[in-house]
Amino acid sequence: MEFLQPATWPEALEMKSDNPDALPIAGGTDVMVEINFDRQRPVAVIDLTRLTELEEWGMDGPLLRIGAGVTYTRIIDELSDRLPGLAMASRTVGSPQIRNRGTIGGNLGSASPAGDAHPPLLASAALVELDSVSGRRRVAASDFYAGPKRNVMRKDELIAAFLVEPARGPQQFSKVGTRNAMVIAVCSFALALDLERRRVGTGIGSAGPTPLRATEAERFMAGVLDEEGLWERPAAVDSKALTRFGELVAAAARPIDDVRGTAAYRTHALAVLARRTFAWAWTEHRLSA
Ligand SMILES: Cc1cc2nc3c(=O)[nH]c(=O)nc-3n(C[C@H](O)[C@H](O)[C@H](O)COP(=O)(O)OP(=O)(O)OC[C@H]3O[C@@H](n4cnc5c(N)ncnc54)[C@H](O)[C@@H]3O)c2cc1C
Repeated sequence: MEFLQPATWPEALEMKSDNPDALPIAGGTDVMVEINFDRQRPVAVIDLTRLTELEEWGMDGPLLRIGAGVTYTRIIDELSDRLPGLAMASRTVGSPQIRNRGTIGGNLGSASPAGDAHPPLLASAALVELDSVSGRRRVAASDFYAGPKRNVMRKDELIAAFLVEPARGPQQFSKVGTRNAMVIAVCSFALALDLERRRVGTGIGSAGPTPLRATEAERFMAGVLDEEGLWERPAAVDSKALTRFGELVAAAARPIDDVRGTAAYRTHALAVLARRTFAWAWTEHRLSA
């Protein structure tokens, strides 16, 4: 197996263009498992760990631009205030060792429906920045996932970064697993409230062929908050509206039965997660108003 080790981002893009079948490796927490279990035998591997460009984050206009090589630990340590939903999801990933090595770019690269970064990225309308020798493009997270463990990245492209607005309101993430740590989600749900644009964002994990948004649920809840004048006067939300929100989130899922849980359980659990996370986020908003 050839081992390619670019020192700069342009060099990495050249290598990917010249070796389209080469497998990028960042933290290696997915790649090494795949290789060790003989599920992948790449002809070449491109090591991205020397590229300081991938480890940087900062503002790009109104958006945070976060390099694909930023780890879960750094999201938690450095960005919890600006991206609370993604930080909550990051805290549930693996163990300290996995959080220290594993990157958001790697989660996007693997595009597992169970990846924990995806629901918060969907809920806050993140963009994924793909780069190649022929140019850079930004894809909405909702258009990035193409199928189970597939994304829209071309073979000559690498993930440079993701872009997302700093939180404009409370965010939540909740995950059901068979134990408290080191667990692949049975299902998960992320919520992001945008108090300025009066928008409700959602992301569903591990309950469909790809991570999903629950757009009808988003429209329904934003409508309830509009009609009742609750955005400006944040009183309690009627329990019937919360129940309906949960039902619409569950209806947006496309779960299967597998070793981790049944489709019926996932549907039930998602409705509960949606109600709960909304109630937590709304309480946070009410207490701070
Ligand atoms: C014990 C254990 C526990 C885990 N627990 C969780 C968990 O709780 N939640 C969760 O979501 N995941 C979990 N994972 C999976 C894994 O840690 C995550 O998916 C992690 O985000 C992968 O990041 P990485 O940097 O290690 O990616 P790598 O393994 O280096 O790469 C993953 C994929 O992304 C591609 N890739 C990486 N970077 C780029 C880039 N810049 N451009 C293009 N392609 C790229 C690679 O080619 C590969 O296909 C766990 C893994 C292990 C081994």
